[in-house]
Amino acid sequence: MTRRPLVAGNWKMNGLMGSIGELKAIIAGAPAIPGADLMVCPPATLVASFAAAARGSTVLIGGQDCHALASGAYTGDISAEMLKDAGASAVIVGHSERRQYHAETDAAVRAKALAAQRAGIVAIVCVGESRAEREAGRALDVVGAQLEGSLSDDSTGFMIAYEPVWAIGTGLTPTPDDVAQMHRAIRQALGLRFGHLAEATRILYGGSVNPNNCSALLAVENVDGALIGGASLKAADFLAIASMYR
Ligand code: PEP
Repeated sequence: MTRRPLVAGNWKMNGLMGSIGELKAIIAGAPAIPGADLMVCPPATLVASFAAAARGSTVLIGGQDCHALASGAYTGDISAEMLKDAGASAVIVGHSERRQYHAETDAAVRAKALAAQRAGIVAIVCVGESRAEREAGRALDVVGAQLEGSLSDDSTGFMIAYEPVWAIGTGLTPTPDDVAQMHRAIRQALGLRFGHLAEATRILYGGSVNPNNCSALLAVENVDGALIGGASLKAADFLAIASMYR
C-alpha cells in the first residue's frame, strides 16, 4: 500500500491579506515536489482568498476548525460546509490548542470529524499526549483513548496527525524510535477499527518539524507527511521541509 504523503501548514492565528505572497511562493514551488500533496491551512478569514489564489495549482487549502453542525445560531463559529464552500478541501479538528483553550473533548472532536466527513472535506484529526503523560509512560494509552473517542465510525475521509503536545512550538521532538512506536500503534488501532482500510489512512507527524530535523522525522515508517506550525509561515521553510518528497 502506497500512501501519498501530505505536508500541511497550520498557520494558526497568523496571517493577513498581505500574507498571500507566501502562498504564491508555495504554489510556485509545488511543481518541484511531485511526491507529496501540499496544503496550507490559513485562518478562516483567508480561506476563500487563498483557495481562489490556489485554484488551478496543486496546492490544497484547509481550515483549522469547524462546528459540528452545518448552520445555526452559533455566533462566531464556522461549519465544515462553509469551509468547503470557501474552497477548503480539509479541516484540522482536535488540535491540542483547541482541546486546551476551548476545552474540546474527544466527543466534541468526533462530532467535528463527522461534520467534515458529512460536508465532503477531509478531517485531519489531531491526537497527542502531554509531557506529563509521556513521562508517566502513558503516551500510547492516552493516544489510543483519544483515537477511540475522536474518530467517527466512517472509515474514509479522515487522516490522523500525531502531535505530542510537548513538542508543539517548543523545538522539542520525540526520537525517531518514539515516533515509529506511536505511528505503528496508531496504524494498529486503525486496523482493529477499520480493517484493511487502515492501510490507506495517512498518519502525519506534527510538533516542531523544521528544515533541519525533517529528514529524520519524516523518514520514519508509517509517517505519511507532516503537520507544521511555526515553520509553515515562511514559504522557504515550508518548501524546504516538503522537498523531502521531491
Ligand atoms: C502545530 O501546531 O500543529 C504544530 C505542529 O506546531 P509547530 O510546528 O510550531 O510545533
